[in-house]
Amino acid sequence: MSAIKITLPDNSIRELPKAVSIGEFAAMIGPGLAKSAVAGKIDGALVDIRTILDKNCKLEIVTLQNPESHEVIRHSAAHIMAQAVQEIWPEVKITIGPVIENGFFYDLDSPRNFVPEDLEKIEKAMQKIVEVNHPITKEMVPIAKAIEIFKKMGERFKVEIIEDLKTKGEVEVSLYHQGNWFDLCRGPHVPSTGFLKAFKLLSIAGAYWRGDEKNPMLQRIYGTAFSNKKDLEAYLNQLEEAKKRDHRKLGKELNLFMFHPLAPAMPFFFPKGTVIYNEIMKFIRELYVEHGYEEVITPQIYDVDLYHTSGHYENYRENMYFTQIDEREFSMKPMNCPGHCLMYSAGRRSYRELPWRVADFGRLHRNERAGVVHGLARVRSFSQDDAHIFCRVDQIPDEIVKFISFLNQVYTTLGFDKYQVFFSTRPEKRAGSDKNWDKAENALETGLKNLKIDYKINAGDGAFYGPKLDVMVTDAIGRAWQLGTLQCDFTMPERFKLEYIGEDNKPHIPVMLHRAIVGSFERFLGVYIEHCAGSFPTWVAPVQAVLINITSNQEAYTKEVEQMLRSEGLRVTADLRNEKLGYKIREAQLQKVPYMLIIGDQEVQNRTLSVRLKAGKELKGIAIDEFKTKILTEIKARSLTSIFADV
Ligand code: ZN
Repeated sequence: MSAIKITLPDNSIRELPKAVSIGEFAAMIGPGLAKSAVAGKIDGALVDIRTILDKNCKLEIVTLQNPESHEVIRHSAAHIMAQAVQEIWPEVKITIGPVIENGFFYDLDSPRNFVPEDLEKIEKAMQKIVEVNHPITKEMVPIAKAIEIFKKMGERFKVEIIEDLKTKGEVEVSLYHQGNWFDLCRGPHVPSTGFLKAFKLLSIAGAYWRGDEKNPMLQRIYGTAFSNKKDLEAYLNQLEEAKKRDHRKLGKELNLFMFHPLAPAMPFFFPKGTVIYNEIMKFIRELYVEHGYEEVITPQIYDVDLYHTSGHYENYRENMYFTQIDEREFSMKPMNCPGHCLMYSAGRRSYRELPWRVADFGRLHRNERAGVVHGLARVRSFSQDDAHIFCRVDQIPDEIVKFISFLNQVYTTLGFDKYQVFFSTRPEKRAGSDKNWDKAENALETGLKNLKIDYKINAGDGAFYGPKLDVMVTDAIGRAWQLGTLQCDFTMPERFKLEYIGEDNKPHIPVMLHRAIVGSFERFLGVYIEHCAGSFPTWVAPVQAVLINITSNQEAYTKEVEQMLRSEGLRVTADLRNEKLGYKIREAQLQKVPYMLIIGDQEVQNRTLSVRLKAGKELKGIAIDEFKTKILTEIKARSLTSIFADV
């Protein structure tokens, strides 16, 4: 028998005279590696450390230091948690326990309602299982036998899952054992329970079996696990911080928006929230001029014929709102693109007019499922910084460069200095010819290469109609949000029979780029409120300065200054209430107003202001004009910091 060739990530090749497990292979490289090895990756697929290397392959050893180990650790944590629960309450039945972003959960069928105090009890039982350090081993079992085993145990949900697998043609399933407990599972898992070094149970929620409300209600326990205590602590701190910044909580405290059951999942923005909304829209509108976009206004409802042409009627109907007018079926628009195609085709277009960049803040309605709506994060009525670029294929690279520079300007100004571009390529199920896909992917990649930025490839993650770029933005507490997107589309222009006359005097089909930078303003506001913790820069702040008089003696002067500043377009209010100065200052601080302008007898006498910054710094004797000029400069520059901070 010839040797087995193992290709390592650095492309070096190791030859094995006989088959060994990944764990044994790691030990051959070094004892340190063997100790921290959690799993392996064979030809890109995560596998157990006990997997035997018996043929040529590419191998990566996943260690505790590798972020990919989280997936394996969290999956094992879910098992250990389920074992702990069944040790404490043997009557509990188990269902599924997957890994999710930043953690894991397990759905349990329990006659007893879990309470938060139970989490500590379960954690203690988990700790014991970890200390015993049970090896976690995989066993392949014929499917009929597996059904019998779980039936005998009364684990009816597991039986249902295995019966499903049977109808799909599976002949055997894998069980993972730890001590005398086991679970039906595909794996992979850590080598032994002792590898679970840092975990925390977080919360309890209800969940229907298989997400179907006709099924029994289960209890879901959420938790998280990391490869070390330091990373776990950092994550728990981030969660704490996120709770304080929750946009739903801040939205109430700062009086920004509300919801009402008569318009489910459709936000109402109060005047203060509307200011923020409009300021960001105004900012983007200004940039449209700079970047060569043209804004249009389009109808809100369309005859469904439009959506037959676009394909939304066939593919997106469950998310659309319909209405009947004069026996014609209409729908609220869920997106602007079909309307823009109608506008494009209204004129005969020459190659010289391309690219046509058309922007639309039109309100969109999408009937999101009740279960997925969450504050401003997912709503049914919203508007986007949506634009479509109709262009020739050879213009795509240049448009990518322009889009990223536009996006960079927006994010930097808003105070998001870290973002990552992802390039998603053709998925398995797709529309359009491979020739078009080649063209589109090459064009996007050329654009990215010209930019010389770092980007990651998400192979197979493109939209069905074309490849796309997604931009993930990191917020102030390190969370990543997908905001920007650019999707390359050959299909819709074809469906709408769009054309332009080329240099050759012949008709050609343009390509359509769907792009957004902040995406839905509603969702963006949720992200932005949390990013700023409700403390907005002056240009965005709903109230930019509050005037505070010390006694009623200064009332007339205070009102006069208020009017002077308002006439400059500054959002200023006067707090003339007969309250103590300290009380009025505290209230303005809680409302996170950038400037407090305090007026006592001396200020009246000298026609000045005492300027107090949000951070507490106070500058006395500032002339009204000086304040006015400085704050206007700060606003015009859309500065993230106070112009008075360095005075
Ligand atoms: Zn679109």
